[in-house]
Amino acid sequence: MAKEIPYKIFLDESEMPTSWYNVRADMKNKPAPLLNPGTHEPMKAEELEGVFCSELVKQELDNDTRFFEIPGEIRDFYKMYRPSPVVRAYYLEKKLGTPAHIYYKFEGNNTSGSHKLNSAIAQAYYAKKQGLTGVTTETGAGQWGTALSMACSYFDLDCKVYMVKCSYEQKPFRREVMRTYGGSVTPSPSNTTNVGRKILAEHPDTTGSLGCAISEAVEVAVSTPGYRYVLGSVLNQVLLHQSVIGLEAKAALEKYDVKPDIIIGCAGGGSNLGGLIAPFMGEKLRGEADYRFIAVEPASCPSLTRGKYAYDFCDTGMVCPLAKMYTLGCDFIPSANHAGGLRYHGMSSVLSQLYDDGLMEARSVKQTEVFEAAEFFARAEGILPAPESSHAIRAAIDEALKCKETGEEKNILFGLTGTGYFDLVAYEKFHEGEMNDYIPTDEELAMYAAKLPKI
Ligand SMILES: *Cc1c(COP(=O)(O)O)cnc(C)c1O
Repeated sequence: MAKEIPYKIFLDESEMPTSWYNVRADMKNKPAPLLNPGTHEPMKAEELEGVFCSELVKQELDNDTRFFEIPGEIRDFYKMYRPSPVVRAYYLEKKLGTPAHIYYKFEGNNTSGSHKLNSAIAQAYYAKKQGLTGVTTETGAGQWGTALSMACSYFDLDCKVYMVKCSYEQKPFRREVMRTYGGSVTPSPSNTTNVGRKILAEHPDTTGSLGCAISEAVEVAVSTPGYRYVLGSVLNQVLLHQSVIGLEAKAALEKYDVKPDIIIGCAGGGSNLGGLIAPFMGEKLRGEADYRFIAVEPASCPSLTRGKYAYDFCDTGMVCPLAKMYTLGCDFIPSANHAGGLRYHGMSSVLSQLYDDGLMEARSVKQTEVFEAAEFFARAEGILPAPESSHAIRAAIDEALKCKETGEEKNILFGLTGTGYFDLVAYEKFHEGEMNDYIPTDEELAMYAAKLPKI
């Protein structure tokens, strides 16, 4: 007889993964290399080491090593908030009246409120090990900056965060969490960098963008001795660190002989989704099992579903390497959307390649539908979800409702990446009926696509 599945499936500390899994090792078509923006030649390790920590550059460029051991100090930190539970969403299933079995992997159980801490602590560790003084970064909604501030304070590193100006103004509480952990926070664009001053001169009223904050953070890192730049998503190394999500989820489900049919995640730069699906995708790539994977993105920023698969700049200031990815163009600034973590113009090269190879599906969802799902979920399962995570909830609910029509008992696993306590202005807009569902037109997207670099 099948074992009864508890509401929360926990792993013991001793069952936590000891290595990260690098899905690139099992990809037949490897993600395209980063290119030098001047020469258009693949970036060499020496070039990248001016910007990023050396050990992270190795991880970034390694398409062949299947497992990277998680250093003991990082595992010690992980123990503060991991293993994170896999929850069988019994109450959501009941409220939906679906025969589907819904599971979610909850990553909001730490002070930073999201999965980003999994990579922040790894990046801070390698910076410390290299003997650096500090790191710089950008943050949009603030989750990454918060996670990195926590990680840097643990390893006693300085942390300079460039925060997209509109978030800086809208989310003063996030800023204070960062300052509590010792991070310094500058609204971007700022007059502390050349690129910031240039953008301010051209667009004095701009409320900022992720691409612009990245340019500022990179400039400060490369011009300050003892500093490097770190990034919270998109990069191969970040997906590698986030594989801890998928490895734990798989181990937890296997304890109860559960094999997911559909695995769903929200996709901003692709790190939580890439991490959640990694070990399952590995099995699919090796022909050992089959799964459906669904990336969910906002209709206002539809890089996978409506973008071009092309080389593009990672930042507005065009100082970063070129990455081949599904992109809307580095100048694209999405309309007001409260899922700050899903507003990036491009998508991880790994996920872009898997999607292009037909190994993963993608769909976009409208903001009000996302908040309807968020509220439904909060009322069923108790957790107040982050707007980003609620994109995955929307798709999971939609799949569960399809099962209700067909009577299929599918296993659906989705990533619940974080909590929404700092997003209550968004919830307020939703409750007041003031939420905007703007979707960019084909003409708008074509205008940005026309500006993609010709490689
Ligand atoms: C940053 C963030 C995301 C999106 O980032 P990915 O790199 O695509 O995972 C999703 N959910 C939350 C809560 C976030 O903070």
